[in-house]
Amino acid sequence: MMEYRSTRGGGAVDAPRALMEGLAADRGLYVPAAWPEFDWRSALQGDEYAMEARILEAMMPGCADEEMIRRAYAGKFTDGQLCPLKAVGDVWAMELYHGPTSAFKDVALTMLPHLMSRARQGQGSRRVSILTATSGDTGKAALEGFHDVEGTGIAVFYPEKGVSQVQRLQMATQEGRNVRVCAVRGNFDDCQSAVKEAFVRLSAQLPPEEALSSANSINIGRLMPQITYYFACYAELCRRGAIRLGETVNFSVPTGNFGDILAGYYAKKLGLPVGRLLCASNENHVLTDFFRTGVYDKRRPFRLTTSPSMDILVSSNLERLLFDGCGEDAGQVRGFMERLEREGSFCIGGDMLRRLRESFEADYCTEEETAEEIARLWRERRYLCDPHSAVGFACGRRYREQSGDGRPMVVLSTASPFKFPAAVLAALGEREEGDEFAGMARLAALTGQTPPPALAALREKRVLHRDVIDREEIVDYVARWLREEGAPC
Ligand SMILES: *Cc1c(COP(=O)(O)O)cnc(C)c1O
Repeated sequence: MMEYRSTRGGGAVDAPRALMEGLAADRGLYVPAAWPEFDWRSALQGDEYAMEARILEAMMPGCADEEMIRRAYAGKFTDGQLCPLKAVGDVWAMELYHGPTSAFKDVALTMLPHLMSRARQGQGSRRVSILTATSGDTGKAALEGFHDVEGTGIAVFYPEKGVSQVQRLQMATQEGRNVRVCAVRGNFDDCQSAVKEAFVRLSAQLPPEEALSSANSINIGRLMPQITYYFACYAELCRRGAIRLGETVNFSVPTGNFGDILAGYYAKKLGLPVGRLLCASNENHVLTDFFRTGVYDKRRPFRLTTSPSMDILVSSNLERLLFDGCGEDAGQVRGFMERLEREGSFCIGGDMLRRLRESFEADYCTEEETAEEIARLWRERRYLCDPHSAVGFACGRRYREQSGDGRPMVVLSTASPFKFPAAVLAALGEREEGDEFAGMARLAALTGQTPPPALAALREKRVLHRDVIDREEIVDYVARWLREEGAPC
């Protein structure tokens, strides 16, 4: 049986239980207790939904089947494609943003409510309440997935000044009986740590039929569906004759909380011929420094950038990689995490760093480099990309130039450029005038491309959520919300 255990040493649970808990009681993250035998070659057969079914059946048995997966995605992605692949110069762009909220997180968050529904019934829970901290894109994608879903409630916390106007409006206009959206005075790290705190404190108080879970990538239900597109992309490269079956491919991944790139590493662990995973960061380059030196040090200024979904200094999912990299030694992971909390940094040994670097490479972009990359891709290739994806393109290009590694490179394109019109227009040398909707129209006129209809329609929607609180208030806020929703706590 496929089981999960905590990176900090807790006992094993099955996949539905790991999914429902989100975070383990010892504050660790659930990871596979053992990796299943997986026939990666056969897994490449069929369309992306068939691939996802085989991956989820292996990794999360009892949570999904192919029929349910097809139903979950039906009508949600443009042309039914989860991850269209485009040639952009000598790299490939895997566009993951053609879902309902125009960011890659839709791939997993379209699926998550369905996984939870099934797990909830199996566990006999009456209701599951979802807590989510967002750096901008997770919040809306989770709201889109969970609003009005029977037996669920969802609360989202975002940094008041840390998201783009479009991202804020996407969340603040969310309709639904079971939703709560709240801004927090602080940055994403403040939101994430306070939400984790609320999680651990309130989970312990709730009766067994009331479950508290997370839609953040600390939840395995977020990570596992993301493995799919690495497989789908590989299969597509084979179909197009760009590679032969068995050849390795590199991926450049714009990274914040280390979830998306970890899914690539998990694809590799399942056998997919993944070469290097390039961890691409913005000016909050704590991960670049970590992969170069073995020292993770969060004691540095938190910068607000044009790629807000990557403005993160405490990258949660790195803990899962550390667990793997130190030979699944939970005691050692606990030591790293305690030092991070107490002193603000930790250091891994040279052997472990070398092991990690067999699979990972890391680089970052300044704000100027990000803007230049957007301009360059448009000027030279007529390819329009958002600031997060631009970080991936720039780091990918630099890696190819400097390493001499000529293997095919796929850049994960994580958001629609129309989600960040002000930053994209500025990069293209246009002066900002008016609000972001004027920016969207201007960007459309300039490039001849059409904004996703759901983004353009935001302008007409009513703002329904105006709460703003301090981070110290989050635990009480969540407790009050749970009581209002009928959970005794
Ligand atoms: C969330 C996000 C990222 C970072 O992904 P992680 O899984 O947190 O590393 C990158 N780009 C965009 C557009 C995002 O929304």
